[in-house]
Amino acid sequence: MDKLIYLDNAATTKTAPEVVQAMLPYFTEYYGNASTIYDFAGKSKEAIMQARTQIADVIGAKKEEIYFTAGGSESDNWALKAAFEAYKSKGNHIITSKIEHHAILHTCEYLEKERGARVTYLDVDENGFISLEDLEKAITPETILISIMFANNEIGTIEPVREIGRIAKEHGVLFHTDAVQAFGQVPINVDEMNIDMLSSSGHKINGPKGIGFLYIRKGVKIRSFVHGGAQERKRRAGTENIPGIVGYGVAAQRAQETMEKRSAEEIRLRDHLIGRILKEIPYSRLNGDAVKRLPNNVNVSLQFIEGESMLLMLDRYGICASSGSACTSGSLDPSHVLMAIGLPHEIAHGSLRMTLSEETTLEEIDFVVDRLKEIVDRLRSMSPLYEDFMKKQK
Ligand SMILES: *Cc1c(COP(=O)(O)O)cnc(C)c1O
Repeated sequence: MDKLIYLDNAATTKTAPEVVQAMLPYFTEYYGNASTIYDFAGKSKEAIMQARTQIADVIGAKKEEIYFTAGGSESDNWALKAAFEAYKSKGNHIITSKIEHHAILHTCEYLEKERGARVTYLDVDENGFISLEDLEKAITPETILISIMFANNEIGTIEPVREIGRIAKEHGVLFHTDAVQAFGQVPINVDEMNIDMLSSSGHKINGPKGIGFLYIRKGVKIRSFVHGGAQERKRRAGTENIPGIVGYGVAAQRAQETMEKRSAEEIRLRDHLIGRILKEIPYSRLNGDAVKRLPNNVNVSLQFIEGESMLLMLDRYGICASSGSACTSGSLDPSHVLMAIGLPHEIAHGSLRMTLSEETTLEEIDFVVDRLKEIVDRLRSMSPLYEDFMKKQK
């Protein structure tokens, strides 16, 4: 088998052909600037409005509550920085978790160091869930914002978002969720879940890269993020990325329409992959919850193995996977998420994330497990740690 086996869909996804088709006319035919008044620009305005509606429908929002950005990182930055600026006269306290994406964690660190914020980083349990009790206890009269991710990008754990929303509402605190991994993958309703702000990104749902949105509930007093023209209701200036917006709208609608069938199939393959690894590779463990996890996420630790070596050997077979999050690769520190769920360093280092897509097949999964078994055997046979361990077993 020398075709590519792409199991890194949490890092990015393939842009769907129908998404590309929908985008193309907006480069060369309908290239008008949506801020102009001549009739030709009408197509551009219409296209933006349609995408806004397609996206709003997925989360039960109104189209005026969707603000386009350049991606998930920008949406996260905007939600935290601009809500902090707008509400700091009320209080300076933000509550988040230890397993957020760096777009949240590094923004929180900035707000602490440079802007006088106080941030509580909630612990998570061994499966990556925050404790609702800890959350409630952490709220003070100074608390202005809770930001907890919908689903974790490394271990796939889906947080109790509905309960978090209820607690936030009861205490009159804003609730933002980084839903980059969850949008289009699991059902979301911003009203039923009391979500005030939500971040998403096009390239994680078979849409184009460099486009995202921030949902901002009507009435939330957030500051503008980019100053300039009147685009995005004067909150995020700059000529719109119309092809990106069009593609994102189509990708969102497509993700919503195929969600039920796609996730059922992904769950079947996911559980087959997890089941085979745990059964056939000794000293392996699953990271994240077995049930409340993203349909396409597998994250396992294989003891006595270096994750990076495993990735390089898988790569020789054309298998793309990840040993942590794409952003942490290249650094020697183990993933902050795996540390937060209490894995010892040496076990965290032997972790492997495989994230499936609608195109993943059973045949590919079985091929990957077969190769993985050989690779693990080979790497363990070269490991002094493993040799010592096996001696002690006798
Ligand atoms: C990918 C990702 C982001 C960043 O999104 P970009 O569009 O790449 O900036 C933020 N949060 C989570 C959970 C992600 O998985």
